[in-house]
Amino acid sequence: MFIKNFFRLDLRRLILLLAFASAAVTLINGLNASYQVQRQLLIDQTLESNHVYASKLATSTENFLRAAQQQFAFSAVELSAQMDNRKLLQHTADRLLNQTNSFNSVVIVDQTGQVLATSPETLQILGEQLASPGAVQALREQKPLISAPYISAANNLLVFISHPVFSPSGQYLGYVGGSLYLKERSILNDLLGKHYYEDGSYLYVVDQNRRLLYHPDAGRIGSQVTGNSVIEAVISGEDGTQQVRNSQGTKMLAGYAPIKVASWGIVAQRPLEATLAPLNSQMQIVIRHTLPLALITLLLIWWLARLISRPLWQLADNAQTLDHPCTAKRIQRVRSWYFESAELKRAMLLGVNLLHTRIGQLKNDAATDPLTGLNNRRGSEMALEMLEHECTPFSVLAIDIDHFKRVNDTYGHDSGDLVLQALAQLMRACTRKEDLPCRTGGEEFIILLPNAQLNTAKELAERLRQQVANTEMPDVGRITISIGIAEWPLQAHEPAQVLKYADKALYKAKGNGRNRCEIYPSPVHQAEKKIPA
Ligand code: GH3
Ligand code: MG
Ligand code: MG
Repeated sequence: MFIKNFFRLDLRRLILLLAFASAAVTLINGLNASYQVQRQLLIDQTLESNHVYASKLATSTENFLRAAQQQFAFSAVELSAQMDNRKLLQHTADRLLNQTNSFNSVVIVDQTGQVLATSPETLQILGEQLASPGAVQALREQKPLISAPYISAANNLLVFISHPVFSPSGQYLGYVGGSLYLKERSILNDLLGKHYYEDGSYLYVVDQNRRLLYHPDAGRIGSQVTGNSVIEAVISGEDGTQQVRNSQGTKMLAGYAPIKVASWGIVAQRPLEATLAPLNSQMQIVIRHTLPLALITLLLIWWLARLISRPLWQLADNAQTLDHPCTAKRIQRVRSWYFESAELKRAMLLGVNLLHTRIGQLKNDAATDPLTGLNNRRGSEMALEMLEHECTPFSVLAIDIDHFKRVNDTYGHDSGDLVLQALAQLMRACTRKEDLPCRTGGEEFIILLPNAQLNTAKELAERLRQQVANTEMPDVGRITISIGIAEWPLQAHEPAQVLKYADKALYKAKGNGRNRCEIYPSPVHQAEKKIPA
């Protein structure tokens, strides 16, 4: 029962459900919209700042490479007529190394690939034939070059920047070149390496063969990266932004820009998670600030739902017991404070009053004997219940017409009915207002006498008997009746038992010759009888 009530769908629960659902949807929707907007804003800002950063570093690197090439070009012109001046060559190599502090080493090489001068001199390759890829490429192509990364004879990963030397007459004399070590400290590290962030942001540089020239993880420098859309875009000379997954599968927000002079690309990126981290705590703060108001709103909704549903709930509750005598009073007490409930209340009161009038009428009809207008058996039972319920003591007369069969046989049934009606009339005339004459069977009657003791009942019974005996009945003339008398609760605890006693007394009256009254003997009476006179 409790569980059934708990899950019952009533108006209050429906209003609450509706209000809670709409409040929850609005709240979640609001939070989600603000989250999405903030998220996109953060992503856009990060992408843009990474792009700006990559572009700035690309410009710086580009400027550095151009400046280096210019220096080599200038020295190449200076040396063009004096490639045999060893002192000048050495001086130039030292100057190029120290002046800019950009290269890890500088070499001046003749057209056969033999090293004419080197700085620092500790390299100890003077007079040797250079066979490294950068050197071979410089000799072969005889033009300004920035090589792909390779591992030198001294086991350094490097890129080689060189410029050819031509004689004034245009004859190729060799080249001036400088190396940038990729794994050790170099100008590239100085330019790029300072900007390593704690939150997982980093940048890297790739050459056109997708080889890493710079990466915070030094172990990966020199390795090739394939299948990365950012690298593909940047080495084809584009700049812009992208969301990608890095080699570890981490989502990254990347900005990229090409270093055109070397066909390199530079990529600055930040993990998406690190970018959104402040947003999560920001949302928590928003929720913390929203919750109290949301709770207050929910409480308010709950209270209002109660207020709205209360009159309808009370009316519905009373609808289940419309036939109860107190229902009208209870409906009256319902505070119907808005239009619909007031109308319902009015309609229900009207209905209840109609119903009660109708029920009263039906009860009356059902409890009345149509021939005599007295209470019938049902009416007598109701009267007995009421007397018992109210603990009102009463006496009862059981009455039967003597030889009524004969009356019927002699004068006909209709005349018999007239006698029954006349007898009922006499009963009414002989009794008090509060006494209840009833027709309980064909020609059997009882009269309930509230608050009357046996002797009073006996007096009344005797009066009635004489009255009947002295009255001319229509068609039939004189008839007589016999009466048995008993008292409740004097003689039995159960009213039904007292009725039986009255019947017994009636049979005794019949047995004693009819037209007489007999009291059912109570213990006192029996005791009195036994005392010898
Ligand atoms: P007793 O003195 O022993 O009571 O004799 P009795 O003939 O009256 O016997 P009983 O009380 O058994 O009679 C019942 C008769 O009452 C039977 C029936 O003819 C008659 N009777 C019962 N109901 C009606 C009725 O509604 N109208 C008429 N006219 N007669 C009825
Ligand atoms: Mg009878
Ligand atoms: Mg009879």
